Amino acid sequence: MQKKEHPESYAREFTEGIRRQVRCTWCGRDARLTRKTLCRHCNDIRKRIERLEDKMRRMRKPNFLLEWELKVAREEKRDCIAWGETLKTLLVRVDALDLEHWLCMLAKRIARDKRMHYNTATMLGWTFTAEQRQVLAYLFWETLGADASRNRKGRAQHRAVVGK
Ligand SMILES: [Zn+2]
Repeated sequence: MQKKEHPESYAREFTEGIRRQVRCTWCGRDARLTRKTLCRHCNDIRKRIERLEDKMRRMRKPNFLLEWELKVAREEKRDCIAWGETLKTLLVRVDALDLEHWLCMLAKRIARDKRMHYNTATMLGWTFTAEQRQVLAYLFWETLGADASRNRKGRAQHRAVVGK
């Protein structure tokens, strides 16, 4: 087994594997997909939007509650797509500063301390090669993505109120 002696080439194999995986066209996760090429989570949101749009069309007068629900569902969709876009970006390149951001997000979420890994970019750049940084960023993306999908609705409601 040569792999252990060549961590760099293994990191490349890993990121190539990530690129090859079939993914949800919205959020980018590799969970089991429906026929619409969306994961179940995203497909549920898509169906909810369709159902609400259909209801709205059949309404004769404005319905505040429906409008609100639709606004939230569209925010959820936007959030899913943003996660998918983040994955595309990190498969292109992950700078040391990006990795610092990921670590800060993780620390904020878990340790409730967003400054824990502040200013570590230089050290991270010296420690990890470009491809190793991508592997790490992917693992963080996957971890935080699961968390993001759990509280997506709450964030969408918040954004629907404050507007963006
Ligand atoms: Zn999805």
